[in-house]
Amino acid sequence: MTTTDTTTAASWVGGVPRAGSGNTHSVIDPATGTTVTTMTLATPADVDLAVATARAALREWASATPADRSAVLHRLAALMDRDAELFAVEEVSQTGKPIRLAREFDVPGSIDNTSFFAGAARNLEGKASAEYSGDHTSSIRREPIGVVGSITPWNYPLQMAVWKVMPALAAGCTVVIKPAEITPLTTLRLARLAVEAGLPLGVLNVVTGAGSDVGAALAGHPDVDIVTFTGSTAVGRAVMAAAATNGTRVQLELGGKAPFVVFDDADLDAAVEGAVAASLINGGQDCTAATRAIVARNLYEQFVSGVADVMATVSMGDPMDPDTDMGSLSSTRHRDKVAGMVERARAAGLRVVTGGVVPTGPGAYYPPTLIADVGEDAEIYRDEVFGPVLTVSTFDDDDDAIRRANDTPYGLAASAWTRDVYRAQRAGREIHAGCVWINDHIPIISEMPHGGVGASGFGKDMSTYSLDEYLTIKHVMSDITAEARKPWHRIIVADKN
Ligand code: NAD
Repeated sequence: MTTTDTTTAASWVGGVPRAGSGNTHSVIDPATGTTVTTMTLATPADVDLAVATARAALREWASATPADRSAVLHRLAALMDRDAELFAVEEVSQTGKPIRLAREFDVPGSIDNTSFFAGAARNLEGKASAEYSGDHTSSIRREPIGVVGSITPWNYPLQMAVWKVMPALAAGCTVVIKPAEITPLTTLRLARLAVEAGLPLGVLNVVTGAGSDVGAALAGHPDVDIVTFTGSTAVGRAVMAAAATNGTRVQLELGGKAPFVVFDDADLDAAVEGAVAASLINGGQDCTAATRAIVARNLYEQFVSGVADVMATVSMGDPMDPDTDMGSLSSTRHRDKVAGMVERARAAGLRVVTGGVVPTGPGAYYPPTLIADVGEDAEIYRDEVFGPVLTVSTFDDDDDAIRRANDTPYGLAASAWTRDVYRAQRAGREIHAGCVWINDHIPIISEMPHGGVGASGFGKDMSTYSLDEYLTIKHVMSDITAEARKPWHRIIVADKN
């Protein structure tokens, strides 16, 4: 891949680029190890400036009509569509993901989500009633919560930014977003484009810096009204603790360890191909990726050999080649973490059916990896790998399948594969997760919510449920009797007659 090797301003504040005064930092193309661009990172002082800028811009944006906000988001979606290829190539250059995925999933999904919130911006009605008290009438105001501080991860940099920013803008909030410092480029491009779309200056601000100082400063900022976070469970808890010092509202989208339950009546071919696609998408660096296949005994060996065969057909290589199925992982540091977990699984005697060997040569590559006969205590079964690694285990009966699916602190996503409608309904009801797919695993749509339970966090991205995160509900109650003395006053002020 060609690299640009330029210098980029780390932040975007008040509608203009802003170089930081922190450490010098290189954004690395993980597929080649070459430098895409360098920047001077933001510092907590830049966070203060960005939050003050967002605060100053709040009144104008919050009082814009929903129609005006909607028009800006519609224009932004159109501009993202115009620049779709630029977004796709930039996303590949900083993540190593295959261009086909960026072109067919990341970028169109982000545009669709922006269009969705352009529409949702005009759907802010709330329940209200004049009838509950004969002496009053009530109205409900759904008001923007205020300044949003967002912190996003490196796996889907553009989509994660869009999921946080668009509902906030639709609701009338202003935003300071901190992307992961290894993947800030498409978030910075999005902010520039938002100004071209007519978003008032200062409504959307980006600060790129390290999590430990810039992220922590944003999470604990006293003038932020909600902290929305997508990332690991450990950091999410630190973010929540920092926000708690100010009593600030939080929304957390955290890690996952999705079960993929194959019942004995499943369509085996569909389950096999579904397992490969759902465990390898984005190199497995997907919080909803299938990680734990739990397969009925009668299908177990066929499933293992079928998945190994299909994994062998997945091509790994240059992410800019449209024929590449899997690119590199997002950094060599992360690749080494994945490799270490697989090595420990092998050392513990688990059956590595395919993959599990770091390829020679440059780039953060790691192959599709299948590990069979995995017991419930194995580290690789319990902890999030966030790489192209699928484990397979079996179960005794339906109760055991559901128990194993739920035997994790995480609860983000799961799937059940069966032709039996009652089994499917039971799985949908009894698996603890924010999303349970039946006979599929991975698809998301802008109209439906995404978000977990337990160690996977709380609150929703996407859908109108996500809009609710950024709104406060206010009750305005008006006396309609015009009487100076209200009936209830006699509880306090004695009747003179
Ligand atoms: P991470 O938690 O290491 O980092 C996420 C963000 O938090 C980054 O911007 C980072 O700089 C920042 N950060 C780090 N330390 C911080 C601190 N002390 N205070 C404030 N911010 C801090 O996560 P990651 O490695 O970038 O992403 C992978 C994780 O994200 C996985 O666990 C994955 O499951 C999760 N994820 C979840 C979802 C979801 O929707 N639930 C989606 C994508 C990724």
